[in-house]
Amino acid sequence: MEEKTSKKDIRALTLEQLRDFFVKSGDKAFRGNQVYEWLWQKSAHTFEVMTNISKETRDLLNANFVINHIKVDLMQRSSDGTIKNAVRLHDDLVVESVLIPTKTRTTACVSSQVGCSLDCKFCATARLKRMRNLNPDEIYDQVVAIDNESRLYFDRPLSNIVFMGMGEPLMNYKNVLKAIEKITSPEGLGMSPKRITVSTSGVPRMIKKMADEGVKFNLAVSLHSAIDEIRTSIMPFNAQMNLADLREALQYWYGKTKNRITYEYVVWKGINDAQKDADALVQFCRFAPSKVNLIEYNPIDDGEFQQANDKAIEMYVTTLERRGITVTVRRSRGKDIDAACGQLANKS
Ligand code: SF4
Repeated sequence: MEEKTSKKDIRALTLEQLRDFFVKSGDKAFRGNQVYEWLWQKSAHTFEVMTNISKETRDLLNANFVINHIKVDLMQRSSDGTIKNAVRLHDDLVVESVLIPTKTRTTACVSSQVGCSLDCKFCATARLKRMRNLNPDEIYDQVVAIDNESRLYFDRPLSNIVFMGMGEPLMNYKNVLKAIEKITSPEGLGMSPKRITVSTSGVPRMIKKMADEGVKFNLAVSLHSAIDEIRTSIMPFNAQMNLADLREALQYWYGKTKNRITYEYVVWKGINDAQKDADALVQFCRFAPSKVNLIEYNPIDDGEFQQANDKAIEMYVTTLERRGITVTVRRSRGKDIDAACGQLANKS
C-alpha cells in the first residue's frame, strides 16, 4: 500500500491553473504547458521522467503535488482475445475495464464509478454498493492502459470507447465529460468523439442536459424492456424515472442532435421473451432512427436470469426488421474471465 499524502493531485488542475501555479512560483506560464503535456499526452507517472524540465522545477512539483496514477493490478486474457484489467486506484479501491478486440477494431469498455448508484437485478456490479465516483484522470488512465495493451497485443491503437463498465456514467456526468474532453483533445489522445459511446440505463434529466450541451459522442440506452411494470421489476429505479420520461428525454435528445439512438437489450427467458415485449420495443423506439443491440446474457451466479432461447431472439429480430429498425445480435466476449456485460464485480 502506498503512503497516503495530503498533497494535491496535479491532474485535478486545469491547464490554466497549472500555468498560474508556475507564474506565482516565479516561472514562466509556458512551463505549465510542458508539464500538462507530460501528464496527459505522455501519461507520465512521476515528475522525474519530465526530462525537459529542470531538476529544481521537478523538486517544486514533488513538494506540492502527487500524480495519482492507476495501477493495473491484474490483467487477464480470455481465450477469445478479450482482456480484463483489474485497476487499483490511489485509495486502494478497484474497478475493472475491458479490451474487446475484433478483426477491425479494438474497443475499451471503461468504468465510471466504483460500484454503482443503481440497482439492476441482473447486474453483478449492482451488488457492490456505490463507493465513489471516479475522477476524470482515473477514467482517462483506464483508456490509456487499454490503448497501450491494444498496441502491444494487437499492433494497433485503440479505436473505440464505450462507457459500459462499472457504474452509471450519467450519475458521474461531470467527471465523465471531463475525461472525454481529455480523450478527445489534442493534448490528450486526440480521439474523435464519434468513436465514443456513453451507455446509460436512462437518466432522463441528464439525457436532456447532454442534448443542451451539444455533446458530440454517441448515446446508448440499456432499455431491456419497454413495458414499465417489467422494466421496474428488473431495474427498480424505473419506478422513479419511468419509460414515458425516458422517451420524452430521448425525443428531446434526437430533436437537438439528430443522432441515431442505440438501445442495448437483453432477452431473458420468461421475463421479456414474448411477442408483446418485442412489439412494445418497436413502439418505444420508432420515433427516431434507432439501432437495437440484442446482447447475449452472461448469468451471474444465482441463476434467476437466464438467456432466452434462439427462437425468442429470432422473433425479436424479425419484429424489429419488419418495422425498419436496425438490429444486431451481439455474442458475448470474455465470458471465461467474467469480463462480459453485467459481469464486472471485482471477483478476480
Ligand atoms: S447495469 Fe449498469 S446501471 Fe445497472 S447496476 Fe449494473 S452497472 Fe449499474
